[in-house]
Amino acid sequence: MMLRRRLLAAGLAAPIGAACAARDDYAEARRRLLDEIERDMRATAGTTGRERLDPRIAAALGNVPRHRFVPAHLAGRAYENRPLPIGHEQTISQPFIVALMTELVDPGPADRVLEVGTGSGYQAAVLAELVAHVYTIEIVRPLGERAAELLKELGYVNIDVRIGDGYLGWPEAAPFDAIVVTAAPDHMPQPLIDQLAPNGRLIAPIGSRYGIQRLQLLRKDAQGRAVTRSVLDVRFVPLTRQR
Ligand code: SAH
Repeated sequence: MMLRRRLLAAGLAAPIGAACAARDDYAEARRRLLDEIERDMRATAGTTGRERLDPRIAAALGNVPRHRFVPAHLAGRAYENRPLPIGHEQTISQPFIVALMTELVDPGPADRVLEVGTGSGYQAAVLAELVAHVYTIEIVRPLGERAAELLKELGYVNIDVRIGDGYLGWPEAAPFDAIVVTAAPDHMPQPLIDQLAPNGRLIAPIGSRYGIQRLQLLRKDAQGRAVTRSVLDVRFVPLTRQR
């Protein structure tokens, strides 16, 4: 597996993948959360088309310490299957939704992935467990800076964080094999479609600020033709421009 976590604890020669889950007090809570996510996967399979998580993705979720990505006073609730506030009127997404979006973009070990809406950095960390490199953009500077610091502290060396408007993508690093948008625009951003590689997958919640949003999955074929399908009703914070 493409685990890029450096072992920070003093001199322990544990296998890297198992390191994190084994070394905090929340391993059991994370395992229970995974059971809940699998239940939600089965319950929504009719519209998502996915009955269960790929074992690689389940392992990635088991490795990332979500309690580090929420404010300290909410650490005890980090393994509830729900979104939580992270300040600046933003939220860390519900774990099931993170799992589902990760599942639907079929992350491969050699992939280069763009995330729009870094927020806490949690989704970026989950992706970084699975792919070669993650580029993530956040428009609220203090959130992006905090996430970059935490991801570095946790040893993720395959994530680049940028402050800016993710609607425009990250042209210098394109094309991407997958793009995950975690704030809701009212239409699929054309720059992101343009920056998706042939055979690439783009997932985004599309809809108005107050109305229903639909999670949409866009796939490009080998010739670069895009096909979009609607996956599930969701609720995300809006994608904003020019903050
Ligand atoms: N993926 C995050 C959850 C993000 S919430 C996590 O795992 O914690 C959505 C985030 O998108 C918010 O932090 C919000 O500030 C950010 N955002 C909104 N509009 C944006 C834009 N145009 N470009 C980049 N980030 C944006």
